[in-house]
Amino acid sequence: MRTLFIAGNWKMNKTAAEAVAFLSEIKDELNAIEGIDIAVCPPALAIPAVADLLKGSKIGIGAQNMYFEENGAYTGELAPNMLVPFCNYVILGHSERRQYFGETDEGVNKKIKAALAHGLTPIVCCGESLEQNQAGETHDFVSGQIKGAFANMTGAEATKCVIAYEPIWAIGTGLTATVEQAGGIIGNTVRATIKEIFGDDVAQKIRIQYGGSVSEKNSAELMAHPDIDGALVGGASLKAAFVDLIKNAQ
Ligand code: PEP
Repeated sequence: MRTLFIAGNWKMNKTAAEAVAFLSEIKDELNAIEGIDIAVCPPALAIPAVADLLKGSKIGIGAQNMYFEENGAYTGELAPNMLVPFCNYVILGHSERRQYFGETDEGVNKKIKAALAHGLTPIVCCGESLEQNQAGETHDFVSGQIKGAFANMTGAEATKCVIAYEPIWAIGTGLTATVEQAGGIIGNTVRATIKEIFGDDVAQKIRIQYGGSVSEKNSAELMAHPDIDGALVGGASLKAAFVDLIKNAQ
């Protein structure tokens, strides 16, 4: 049995003060939810204040990116050990980072290894564009992303990761993949590729989230699919309805 895991990716939204004000409103309700792992991923500068507020709570904290080197001349980057005092998770390879900041599967692979070496759980993102989807390239493209991201890793390492399948055409657009589409790609492409690389045991253990316009209206239906183990939520994680989204998934 894989425990559902729902994480909110706040992207470049909320100052530290806004993050604390928002979470102060909803943290008790989130803490009262049983049987689902929950995390929020604020912008880096808000993370210490959020960690302070959530001390002792069951709500995990994730960063939205991280560099793979330990330290050095990498202006603007954050090293794994800078996140460790505050974070349990780190989102890696989000499509927006691939699109705007040149993130590659090779870089994501290095970042996953660095995160695991520091005890952080990577949330590894994959997903196809609208053009690829319409051209029938989804399977090969997403499978290739998984193979690149998980290259030269052991099954034990892969088991510690979470994968988020996020079709780019569904992110922030209000277009959600149908349960059949999302569950089908997660089962037949993402989990199947993990099985091909690491075997069935790892494929059955690894948690695979769906992301792309998940809201309180569709979370129940999406999470009911046996292959969908949670959600990576953007826009809907910025409002109090995030609580309903998780309750409905439950
Ligand atoms: C995301 O950015 O990971 C995401 C899924 O965004 P949204 O929920 O807004 O589509």
